Amino acid sequence: MRPLHTGADTPLGAFQRYPGCRVLLSCAACAWSKSYRPEPMIERLRKLRAGGYETTLADAARRVAWNCPRCQRMRWRFEFALPEGLDEREMRRLANQYRN
Ligand SMILES: [Zn+2]
Repeated sequence: MRPLHTGADTPLGAFQRYPGCRVLLSCAACAWSKSYRPEPMIERLRKLRAGGYETTLADAARRVAWNCPRCQRMRWRFEFALPEGLDEREMRRLANQYRN
């Protein structure tokens, strides 16, 4: 994963600016990480009436209620990241999809 260094106050809905991006959850204590697709994450927040497109990365990280499986601490951070190997053509295809 290639982190995009988006600020913690970036809303989840900003994923559309970065075609093909994932939301990377990482542990600030030991660097364990796991990535999620942004759409289902937003959908879930909306269903729970806990947020949605406007929820910031920082707020989403505060909602993670489990401990890191590696170091057992709870110091979560979310940021947008691009999967390795996502090529230009695929990014253009996804960008068109969001536009329609
Ligand atoms: Zn950890």
